Amino acid sequence: MNRLHIDINGKVQGVGFRPTVYRYAADANLSGFVMNSSTGVNIEVQGSKETAEGFLIRLKKHPPVQADIQRIDSYWMSPVDDSEGFSILDSSSRGEVSAGIPPDIAVCSECKQELLDPLDRRFGYPFINCTNCGPRFTIVKRLPYDREFTSMEGFKLCRECLKEYTDPEDRRFDAQPNACPVCGPELSLVSPAGTPVNGKPVKEAAGILLKGGIVAVKGLGGYHLSCSAYDEDAVNELRARKNREHKSLAVMFRSIEDIKEECLVTPDAEQLLESYAAPITVIEKKHRADIPETAAPDTNDLGVFLPYTPLHILLLKETGIPLVMTSCNNTDEPIISTEQEVMEVTGKTADYALVHNRDIVRKCDDSVISTGWGHRVVLRRSRGYVPDSITLMHDSGSILGLGAQMKNTFCLTRGESAFVSQHIGDLSGYRNLEFFKREISDLMNLFDIDPDILAYDSHPGYAYTGFIEDFCADTKVPVQHHHAHIAACMTENRVDSPVIGMALDGTGYGDDGTVWGGEFLVADLSTYKRAGHFKHYRMPGGDAAVINPVRMAVSSLLDAGVPEERLDLLKGVSGDEIRVFNRMIQRGINSPLTSSCGRIFDAVSAICGLCSSATYEGQAAVRLQQAAEKGVTQRYGYSVFKDNASYSLSFSEALVSVFEDVSLCKREVGVISSMFHNTVAEG
Ligand code: ZN
Ligand code: ZN
Repeated sequence: MNRLHIDINGKVQGVGFRPTVYRYAADANLSGFVMNSSTGVNIEVQGSKETAEGFLIRLKKHPPVQADIQRIDSYWMSPVDDSEGFSILDSSSRGEVSAGIPPDIAVCSECKQELLDPLDRRFGYPFINCTNCGPRFTIVKRLPYDREFTSMEGFKLCRECLKEYTDPEDRRFDAQPNACPVCGPELSLVSPAGTPVNGKPVKEAAGILLKGGIVAVKGLGGYHLSCSAYDEDAVNELRARKNREHKSLAVMFRSIEDIKEECLVTPDAEQLLESYAAPITVIEKKHRADIPETAAPDTNDLGVFLPYTPLHILLLKETGIPLVMTSCNNTDEPIISTEQEVMEVTGKTADYALVHNRDIVRKCDDSVISTGWGHRVVLRRSRGYVPDSITLMHDSGSILGLGAQMKNTFCLTRGESAFVSQHIGDLSGYRNLEFFKREISDLMNLFDIDPDILAYDSHPGYAYTGFIEDFCADTKVPVQHHHAHIAACMTENRVDSPVIGMALDGTGYGDDGTVWGGEFLVADLSTYKRAGHFKHYRMPGGDAAVINPVRMAVSSLLDAGVPEERLDLLKGVSGDEIRVFNRMIQRGINSPLTSSCGRIFDAVSAICGLCSSATYEGQAAVRLQQAAEKGVTQRYGYSVFKDNASYSLSFSEALVSVFEDVSLCKREVGVISSMFHNTVAEG
């Protein structure tokens, strides 16, 4: 007899790990136990040496699909006399917390089948889940991942559910959110008065949606605002209520077949849509599509996704049509996730709210991934991915990285693991800043990380400046915005040698106090030299120039020598305004210098008459890209000159040519756009 002790670290809780261990041990006739610990899973098996070794090999080769083993340590110990049978023991909460928590997992095919099977006891039950699927990150209060530390704590398992929960042979063995209509959470449709609507909640909600109404729907990490995607008036009404004029809205479809009716689905996009993360996937619309323009007026792409909770499946089955599903929040505020918050908007933004009594412990927005360039580009890494760790190239100790002000996420590290937070948003909003602070302390507790080092963006005016002062850490390190971008890119691609990094960005604080954003840095992970940058232009009115791209058109054309009076040809700006901007620039009044790449795209978009003032970040560039015609190979001129210690890349020549082409109607906007894109690439 031999006894093997095995410690496994990584994402091994909440992914069906212990039942797999149990099955493998039972197959090999080994005795012993498995248990969750705060560091992962501990196993002891007893039997012949070969059998025990064979067991470990099988576990390494065939772990549960959603597990991510970071490390396995094993050693032989003396056999135990009365070792009989194999058992799953209660969790131990001793030791350092390093076990990963899985992200929320989209409903699996087996649960979906049961959900739609009239003979199943969970037929039509909107909270069906199993060891392979269901909420995780958004219901966990602390580790280890056990029911008593989740928002399922208050739901006592009924006899049948308990039987499944305790039977290692069952698909629901140890599934913490396990529930059924007898013992689990319940759904209700609530009116603005706060009273439940009579009838079946899903059916009633579907009826409201089909009549053009707007319903707040409770999802995994927060509420969606939902309306019929086919109903142009409803979509416009939702836009008006949410104060979201043009930015694209995501649409949820019943099935992949339905998406294929509307969009050009590549095999990669299909795989992504059906993955257990089930992100919003940005893909190209077909020319003849039924979804009205107003869902995504600026682009030919549409953000689409599949129902990822049983509730979504039931709702879409009932409506029979795709639904707009956009996060329910006010501008610059975090996604709504509590009953109190949803009642504040019901009767205003939403007509009704489809709610339930399983609490959302942690807000988490949908992830957004684009597949449009032949490979995946993660636009927002949140639900379905967070809190999976990213493996670093070096042991980095414990660091808290605060991220930037716009589209904020922060990051905690432990050794070689980096835990990037869910999407937080624009920190200039007070509620987002509170959400940011709360999540930092929450994730520090959850992962038991007490950072030695605080790293933050060197911008002196960010909303988290006070937080930096108050935070206790041995070392506080300011990081230049674009160096952070390039270091992140190096880490993602596992490049550890010095690089020439390009950061083509909108806005970041530069070391010289100017606004950087078109940067060529010779960098490694700890140092950098600014070897080159886009030519500087003035931003008349500072941030106002970001919201009004036409200001950049005026500024850059004046700089390039175009006379003031000729600029009257620009759309969306009066002669008087042009004169004011010119004076501001000449006298240096509230007109900071910028080397931003985004501002050049803004200028060209405005010169082309596509966008003189923007209703969301990046709108001018989105419209310019959308306008580009395929197959154009020409380009405009550009130049490079030495500017003090670094090189400056100037597109002034191109800007003047674009202005000529537009004002003299020499070229179509589609050709101009393509030629400009070619010029930037060539530059
Ligand atoms: Zn399942
Ligand atoms: Zn039950």
